[in-house]
Amino acid sequence: MMIDKYKKIVIKIGSSSIINSKTKKIDTDWLKKLCKDIKKYHKDKKIIIVCSGAIALGSSLIKKNKILRRLEDKQAAASVGQIELAHQWRLHLKKHRINIAQVLITLEDSEVRRRYLNARKTINTLLNNKVIPVVNENDTVATEEIRYGDNDRLAARVAQMIDADLLILLSDVDGLYDKNPKKNKDAKKINEISVINKTIEKMANSQTSILGSGGMTTKIAAAKICMNNGCDTLITDSEKNKPLSSITKQNSSIFLANKNPSSSRKQWLLNHLHPSGFIRIDDGANQAIKNNKSLLPAGIIEVGGNFNRGDVISVYFPKKEKIAVGISAYDINEVKKIIGKKSKEIPSILGYEGRDEIIHKDDLVKIIL
Ligand code: GLU
Repeated sequence: MMIDKYKKIVIKIGSSSIINSKTKKIDTDWLKKLCKDIKKYHKDKKIIIVCSGAIALGSSLIKKNKILRRLEDKQAAASVGQIELAHQWRLHLKKHRINIAQVLITLEDSEVRRRYLNARKTINTLLNNKVIPVVNENDTVATEEIRYGDNDRLAARVAQMIDADLLILLSDVDGLYDKNPKKNKDAKKINEISVINKTIEKMANSQTSILGSGGMTTKIAAAKICMNNGCDTLITDSEKNKPLSSITKQNSSIFLANKNPSSSRKQWLLNHLHPSGFIRIDDGANQAIKNNKSLLPAGIIEVGGNFNRGDVISVYFPKKEKIAVGISAYDINEVKKIIGKKSKEIPSILGYEGRDEIIHKDDLVKIIL
């Protein structure tokens, strides 16, 4: 079977799969079947579940199916729905003698390195104890600017965090089509993708889902995160009766991981979703980065955002897209003072001895365009 060869699998379940679109309640028949399948794989694989549906469930419980628009309403709904979600998972996996743990993650937990490492340790400890983590975004506290908003990218970050080798995105679509299959009868499914280029991204933009928040665009973003990390990504709606064991090449699209994943620290950097600021560099610095050298203040022509020493920032080269990301050795106010200056001038300008480089080469990852 298609997923047999994998050892550590993150299964992301979209709202459209777990919630019955008519009753707006959990589709327990489907959940039972999924749990039966999970049991099969749980014995000799590590399984992590990322499950959406808290907001949708909560809103049907407290607002009688009205669409919630304000963030505080969604947050309140999530806190109601999340209990129900966790309860149902516990109930149905307990029948198979499987324990679950509820893990609620915020964007910061994956963006701040210390918290990221901590979340990783916790999830790995659960897995080593044969407990299945059921993960969701901590919607109740996540604010508009700093939240994932979709569980596709959250699941990809979790997959990366714990070095999973497969991410399954269970959804209401069985894969990526070259055009929107709901509108075009001749739309063709792409069964295997090894590079995400502009054409693939364009295909994704034409396909959206009804209940979930992400549609195909966030699925592609998730696949992109995983591909750099040695993790394959599979999009499928599989068979309702056997959600996992019925997955085949025909009823899915698989994004194959790059053969040479970068080191885990560099992966974390590369997949950072919200860098705190940016710097723009000149031609000399661009060459230095190409040659795997550190980034010195002399090569910087502009700085922006709001960052402190140790924060992740983006590096732009004029007229080009983002070319790298890295960890800044200085606060933005310090960078503003030493912009364009020689490294040996740093102590006299700042009044103390700092590092020679703004971003050290070990803290810098190039984006391959
Ligand atoms: N965290 C959201 C929820 O549980 C789901 C976001 C999404 O649709 O992926 O309701």
